[in-house]
Amino acid sequence: MRILLVEDEKKLSAAVCKVLEGENYVVDPVYTGDDGLDGAESGIYDAIILDVMLPGMDGFTILRTIRKEGIRTPVLMLTARSGLEDRVQGLESGADYYLPKPFQMVELLACLKVITRRGDAMPVTELTFGDVVLRQSDGHLANTANGQSVKLGTKEYQLMEIFLRNPRQILSKDTLSERVWGYDDSSEYNNLEVYVSFLRKKLGFIGSTIRIRVTRGMGYSLEEGK
Ligand code: CA
Repeated sequence: MRILLVEDEKKLSAAVCKVLEGENYVVDPVYTGDDGLDGAESGIYDAIILDVMLPGMDGFTILRTIRKEGIRTPVLMLTARSGLEDRVQGLESGADYYLPKPFQMVELLACLKVITRRGDAMPVTELTFGDVVLRQSDGHLANTANGQSVKLGTKEYQLMEIFLRNPRQILSKDTLSERVWGYDDSSEYNNLEVYVSFLRKKLGFIGSTIRIRVTRGMGYSLEEGK
């Protein structure tokens, strides 16, 4: 899962990033309202953690703007202001959840799990297809038939997660690169093939029967069987 974190307090931002990355989320931190809006409009995020008071555009305005544009990405509002009025304004602006500061990291994680579970999103803790399961708890890919498992690196995990959320669908190289490496990072583009080969090796290592098929000129898909 890829999370946009819009928070101008550098220390808090760094702390949140650390905790979320420890839970196998990929986090892109931005520190101003304008960067927040740009990121939110990119449509590549599974959730947005949004502070209210920001340099430039404030969180409420960002939220109203993206909702008007039809962007339905789940939003967790984060703010020092815990008054009822702000809470109401946040929810009316289209926030999915509202967490007043100061908060415990466990609360933040719980909120994030709740909002990313809404809509079409599947529960984030485990994803399965064929004989494999991807566990968020320890970042392992396991074969449920023989009990073999292997730890995935962060990018491998991200890539596998996208495949498991879209089994049997051909995913273009552009889509996959964008989701794993970010929409403006073309320097990493060629890494996709490398990481697909890593995942294939690991699927082989745990003796799985699922495979990543390449369709020339189209992209990759996760398939069952030989
Ligand atoms: Ca702030």
